[in-house]
Amino acid sequence: MSKNTDLVIKNGIIVTASESYKADVAVKDGKITMISDGIESEGDMIVDAAGKLVLPGAIDAHVHLELPVSGTVSADSYEAGTRAAACGGTTMVFDFATQEKGMGLVEAVRGRLKHVEPQACIDYSFHVAITDLTPEVLDEFKDSIEFGVPSFKLYMVYKDMMVDDGVIADALERSKETGALIAVHAENPYLIDRRTKKLLSQGKTAPWYHYESRPEFVEVEAVRRVVYLAETLAAPLYIVHLASGEGLDAVTRARDEGFEIYAETCPQYLNFTNEVYRRDDGRYFVCSPSIKGEGSRKALWEGIKRGDISTIATDHCPFQSYEKDWGINDFTRIPNGCMGVENMYPYMLSEANKGRISFNKAVEVCSFNAAKIFGCAPQKGTIAVGSDADIVIYDPDKKFVVTKRNMHSDVDYTIWENYEMTGYPILTFSRGKLVFEEGKFTGKPGWGKFIKCFRR
Ligand code: MN
Ligand code: MN
Repeated sequence: MSKNTDLVIKNGIIVTASESYKADVAVKDGKITMISDGIESEGDMIVDAAGKLVLPGAIDAHVHLELPVSGTVSADSYEAGTRAAACGGTTMVFDFATQEKGMGLVEAVRGRLKHVEPQACIDYSFHVAITDLTPEVLDEFKDSIEFGVPSFKLYMVYKDMMVDDGVIADALERSKETGALIAVHAENPYLIDRRTKKLLSQGKTAPWYHYESRPEFVEVEAVRRVVYLAETLAAPLYIVHLASGEGLDAVTRARDEGFEIYAETCPQYLNFTNEVYRRDDGRYFVCSPSIKGEGSRKALWEGIKRGDISTIATDHCPFQSYEKDWGINDFTRIPNGCMGVENMYPYMLSEANKGRISFNKAVEVCSFNAAKIFGCAPQKGTIAVGSDADIVIYDPDKKFVVTKRNMHSDVDYTIWENYEMTGYPILTFSRGKLVFEEGKFTGKPGWGKFIKCFRR
């Protein structure tokens, strides 16, 4: 028995992606130092977790904090977004560093780091969003990888960001050579443009038409195309925020044939359907890809159970209600993005608690797989000796109703208003430091560290 523990969590059920078992956990200097029965604490803090689950903190691999977009900036600062994350049991986020035209990859990350460092309440890393893939930038893949950022995102849509298929092919090829991972937002911009123009010319401007402007096939076409490219080039591929059942079919087929293709989806696609766009507050749900029909929602859940959806992330990119109101009479003026960073883990765990998936599966898709895919396992994503003590204590018996007032983001509403969670996180530790306790944020800005990721 080590005399030097900072924290001992006793009597809980430890849940990892692969097993559940009863044991105590000892923590020293931010790391898990022992997992065993009957650890006697001589440390400063003892948590009795009898009747509770002891989980690795979630990793949200897709957030947009302080993102300049649509003539404004997404509403959560790094401080607010990571504070909210901590209060929902998420202990690491991946934000996007945008490589603007003429900029280098590492330069883009360094620029973002300056903003994040003083604010982050939990650990973080980045993907670089590449908008200008010059030969120099291709050659810089290896530098970014050495720097600890081996994942690059390409947009198939959005005028200022989008790249063509040749660029995607070049990036896939170079990623295969270097060990990087290409992530793609897959929708077809030409279809969206034509459909949008037609809808507007017919005076169809309500939020419902956001869905009509980019329904299932707009995503499916792009997913099939990019999956085909990745297969042909035998390069790994990660599809962000997959929302359609038929898009998932393309991923499933490729995976069955042995290709390294990953799909991510988000809680908004798992819990809501396009019917939300008919509601009075439909504009709050405007995000891209649009939320799809019930068939897609069901298919995404099946994909999680089958293992063809590897990760759940949020695409957290909220805007204040007054900003969403800009599009009250024109869906094209609604800033695209929803909140979710505080809701993802509680929602997936609540679904597990109700029996839809196992708790192990919830841990796998919310934490373990992201760590593995992006290269920060086993430091993150599990409860194991030597791993960071990013730990959530979960009370399966706690009832929790989400409302704006008990959320910790800076946004003035939530799309999860009145949602009832069965079970809820009660404590969150970030590297052994208590950052959330019984509804209150107890961490501090500047605590979070940049986590270098290495895929090889
Ligand atoms: Mn996107
Ligand atoms: Mn996004």
